[in-house]
Amino acid sequence: MVNKFFLYARKSTDVEDMQVLSIEAQINELRELAKKEGLEIVDELIEKKSAKNPGRVIFNSMLDRIEKEEANGIISWHPDRLARNSVDGGRIIYLLDRNKLSALKFNTFWFESTPQGKFMLSIAFSQSKYYVDSLSENTKRGLRQKAKNGYCPSVAPIGYLNDSRNKTIVLNKKVGPIIKETFEHYSNGNILMREVSSFLAERGILLPSGRPFGLSRIRKILTNPYYYGHFIYAGEVYEGRHDPIISKLLFDKVQEIINRKNKQWSKARVERVHKPYVGLLTCGECGMGITADFKDRHYKNGNCSHFNYYRCTKKDKTTKCLQSHIREEDLDSQLTTLLKKYTLKNAWAIKMNKKLDIESRDIAQSSLSVISLKRKEIDNLNSKLQLLLDSYLDQITDKEMYKKKKLELFSQKKTFEEQIINLQNQKGNWIEPMRKWISEASEVDQIISTNNKDDKKVLASKIFGSNLFLEDKKVRGVGQFAWSALRASSKNLSWEPRVGIEPTTCGLRYRRSAN
Ligand SMILES: [Zn+2]
Repeated sequence: MVNKFFLYARKSTDVEDMQVLSIEAQINELRELAKKEGLEIVDELIEKKSAKNPGRVIFNSMLDRIEKEEANGIISWHPDRLARNSVDGGRIIYLLDRNKLSALKFNTFWFESTPQGKFMLSIAFSQSKYYVDSLSENTKRGLRQKAKNGYCPSVAPIGYLNDSRNKTIVLNKKVGPIIKETFEHYSNGNILMREVSSFLAERGILLPSGRPFGLSRIRKILTNPYYYGHFIYAGEVYEGRHDPIISKLLFDKVQEIINRKNKQWSKARVERVHKPYVGLLTCGECGMGITADFKDRHYKNGNCSHFNYYRCTKKDKTTKCLQSHIREEDLDSQLTTLLKKYTLKNAWAIKMNKKLDIESRDIAQSSLSVISLKRKEIDNLNSKLQLLLDSYLDQITDKEMYKKKKLELFSQKKTFEEQIINLQNQKGNWIEPMRKWISEASEVDQIISTNNKDDKKVLASKIFGSNLFLEDKKVRGVGQFAWSALRASSKNLSWEPRVGIEPTTCGLRYRRSAN
């Protein structure tokens, strides 16, 4: 049987403050619930009496209509909307018992028509705890509805007053114009928040303590959309019904200035704190690390410029280091010049990768053939071991001889096995690092052109390791491993990899040849 529902909403007369609004909110949310659950609503019933005592007209007629089978379900906010006295509650349960009522739906209470469900429902009807719980929910709902209707349910911002009689917020005719003036004053762009505070103080607008407004309070005023007609409640923006003090245009202009100053401030701060090349260089005179200090300058228009200086930490107590400092810009340009010497031309990178492909194929083949040779040796040894065992069992070989021979063969077998494992692990173990290096070296150009100091630091530490020095305001360094070979080759324009392209300087080739 298809359920037909009565939507039942009741105004709370118990909490005076929200009674006007909560009914709308109840109906809105009940309609939404009905839609979501696909419930058919035959009538919407609104009660204006408290549920504390029996005798509600609408409620009674609803139950009569249910007796007449006009509907067999009720949808309501919470059981406490239906009944908060034992008589009304009893009537609902009696209807459920006789199947006149087959469904009850609540936004905030889950009900199932079983003995347990009815038991829970009767508790909900009678317990004051439910009332207390739902009260705070109701209050929130009421406030939300108030906000939807355009009344900010909170204390009036400065420039407005709470009208307690009409429960609305009205313009403060004395302070409002000063707030407007403040926005206009700030929109010129050349004053600080601090100066806004004294601007207000001069016009007699002070904290209750008599002190001028703090910066966070000023910021709050200058960014409050209330002044042009909107307001924020519980993180959501609403259209207010109050009189705006300023235009949206003026407000936007002020936001633009605030954002710009924020950006300048945070940019200056980030860069000031950030010292990209700390930890990269070593002092050429005393061998201690190079660190950085910053100095910054504030200008009246709120701008700020700063400088990083790099210098020796001079932590060595035994020698007195006489090195002075160098500005970051200078260090950066020297470092960039140095890095440029380690760029790998794209054409070379392609050529080298091709050679690597050939090399790795050769290596794979040669190591495979060596491995198969060793495997054959092992097979031989296994056969010998079998023969040895046979001859021992046939009593051709005596026990002592057998033991001695067996040990010998086992030892040889182990050697071959180990060699195979080593060959498998080592075949071309320099190939992958080489490929990685080629890709890094071909990215040098790009890193230099993007001019990101952090990336340059990473690159420099890859190339130079700990071989990067600062002495007499000059940066010098020697690239390690393959980088030094690249540097040497870049001096010779006709450079071509000679026999193979193994990174002879990193010693991988030697390790391979040594096996
Ligand atoms: Zn030093």
